Amino acid sequence: MLELNQVCKEYCDGSRQVTAVAVDSLTIKAGEQVALVGPSGSGKTTLLHLISGLLIPTRGEITFDNVVVSAMPEVWRDAWRAKTIGYVFQKLNLLNSLSILDNLLVAMSFAHVIPRTEQQQWASRLLTQVGLGDRLHSRPQQLSMGEQQRVAVARAVVNKPGIILADEPTASLDQENGLRVLALLCQMAEEANSILLVSTHDTQIMKRFERVIPLLQPERQVVISAACNRLA
Ligand code: ADP
Ligand code: MG
Repeated sequence: MLELNQVCKEYCDGSRQVTAVAVDSLTIKAGEQVALVGPSGSGKTTLLHLISGLLIPTRGEITFDNVVVSAMPEVWRDAWRAKTIGYVFQKLNLLNSLSILDNLLVAMSFAHVIPRTEQQQWASRLLTQVGLGDRLHSRPQQLSMGEQQRVAVARAVVNKPGIILADEPTASLDQENGLRVLALLCQMAEEANSILLVSTHDTQIMKRFERVIPLLQPERQVVISAACNRLA
């Protein structure tokens, strides 16, 4: 279970302090699939970075399965993230000098979750599952945007993470490819009983989620309360 309690992230922007995220209380259970919705600048990326431990909150506590992520020293957080978080970054962050197979193998080498002798086969299987079984030795830049998104999805799930985060994973895709990527994310999260948190400003994507967390931007301040966790 993922829990955020009184979490606030402030950035220093010149002489001004910007409150990018303020979460009163938020709980997401294992296996839940949630859309995080808000306009540009509403704090989606900041919130996903906080949950992944890439950023630490200015105040408040983030806990996953009784581990207080926000209080961990950086080195532990890095090791925890490698095992626990699968992240589809908005700009993908695939390693362009490596084949897509090697991109997955590198992600596995940090996490030590999949036994070494099984890694090659597991990575090939996942890439085949996302429709890229005949492109294992291609580099990301030799693939279309939709194909690269599918590599990023496969890499995000390769260590069977407890939490999968996807930052606007459909934003640069046409509708057909966007829905395909989303379906893959949902299917893979379900198979691993992972939490799935997808940020989006696309209403078509949002409609596919049972639970939607809205991020609003009143005067650059984002406030989530427990009461608005669930929308009809
Ligand atoms: P979104 O992903 O919804 O577009 P972000 O989380 O990127 O929103 O940004 C939320 C707010 O925080 C915005 O007002 C943005 O300008 C500000 N912000 C984000 N990153 C930084 C930073 N490194 N320094 C200062 N302000 C930032
Ligand atoms: Mg963003």
